[in-house]
Amino acid sequence: MREVRIRDTLSGELRPLDPDDEIGIYACGPTVYSRIHIGNARPFVIFTLLARFLRSEGYRAKLVVNVTDINDKIYDAAREAGEGSAAFAARMTRGYFEDTDRLGLGRPDSEPLATEKIGAIVGLIGDLVDSGHAYESGGDVYFRVRSFDGYGKLSNRRTEDMDQGEEAGSASLKQDPLDFALWKARKEGEDTSWDSPWGPGRPGWHIECSAMAEAELGRSFAIHGGGSDLIFPHHENEIAQSEAAGRPFARLWMHNGMVETDAEKMSKSEGNIFQLSEALDRYGREAVVAYLIAGHYRQPLAFGPEQMEQAVAQVERLRNFFRGHSGREPGGPAAGTRLAGFREALADDFNTPRAMAEAFELVAEANREEIPGAPAALKEMLELVGLESLAEAEQGAGEEAEVLLSEREEARAAKDFARADEIRDKLAELGWEVRDSADGAKLVPKS
Ligand SMILES: [Zn+2]
Repeated sequence: MREVRIRDTLSGELRPLDPDDEIGIYACGPTVYSRIHIGNARPFVIFTLLARFLRSEGYRAKLVVNVTDINDKIYDAAREAGEGSAAFAARMTRGYFEDTDRLGLGRPDSEPLATEKIGAIVGLIGDLVDSGHAYESGGDVYFRVRSFDGYGKLSNRRTEDMDQGEEAGSASLKQDPLDFALWKARKEGEDTSWDSPWGPGRPGWHIECSAMAEAELGRSFAIHGGGSDLIFPHHENEIAQSEAAGRPFARLWMHNGMVETDAEKMSKSEGNIFQLSEALDRYGREAVVAYLIAGHYRQPLAFGPEQMEQAVAQVERLRNFFRGHSGREPGGPAAGTRLAGFREALADDFNTPRAMAEAFELVAEANREEIPGAPAALKEMLELVGLESLAEAEQGAGEEAEVLLSEREEARAAKDFARADEIRDKLAELGWEVRDSADGAKLVPKS
């Protein structure tokens, strides 16, 4: 078991994980007011693969990724869609599960919905009211920020630079502009509400995560993660609520950088590839995963067609390697060194680009001269980052599949799309996915 170190946002230090501890990881999931985009997929991929790596090293890990299905944005989007907000949120939640299923990385150990944890949320707010850290006002409940000494320690902001970003209407109900909502009284036009000691309403966003993390992982757990855009106010407020209520809460904070798009470069012809499902349709799941681990998780990651084409080329390079090499050879020392380097890189603040550099070095070396055990070592590396399907290309598609593929091309040329779809389904049964690209259709092993 390697020592795994993670950079803690709170202390700024590289901190080792305790091998005797269950590594509980709570990562903030999406607010389901639309289909998710590539930026939402980044924490999903990073924390899923981190849990996978920890298990492969012998750690006990439990990954929790929540779904925020109560939120102002959901009310607005549901209204626009002419749909009830509960039905709308449920539909978007299903869409989120479908889209992330297609990444082929499996599911987190637990995926709580805010709507299913109202009891825990109301209980935690009650504790804060009882201890004087929160107060009721006009049916809302607010957290009294100045009652908590450590406020600002995660984001290192001065209180004068803090804006809770809450609706202007709540200002008159707050004792201090710095305070933030734990519970919001039901408003005109809101079609969902829950009972509470302070009247019907719904929880604020921050308290949902404090309560769900505790319900799933206990009062103290190893890692709290999420995008760096959540550091303030969301995570700062989670710390304040949970610690003020006497919970030790997260021992380490881990934040991923943002996925950044150049709006001008994303011309209309590119379609909406920023949406995860679109990117998956166009580039396939391996390229999307390869793209998301191409940069160090803490750094911002540029997104556009160029970056995705690079990821496609990388994936093809790996797949081609397995077309020429069998993954069933026994391991050897030269390949073993690269594999150890790969694992070391992941153990060092989950450095996926350094790990993938080891994989590509091994491919280059093994393409120059025979390296015993290179395919097996590479396959193990790819398993750790969810790309093991690339190793399955070694057998080739086989004659039957190739014949079907050319029949499908003929059907498409003749505009017989029903027949083309029929053949596509037949290929899927044989384990092949058809991917249409600029230079014709290709068969890719189904993940
Ligand atoms: Zn959260």
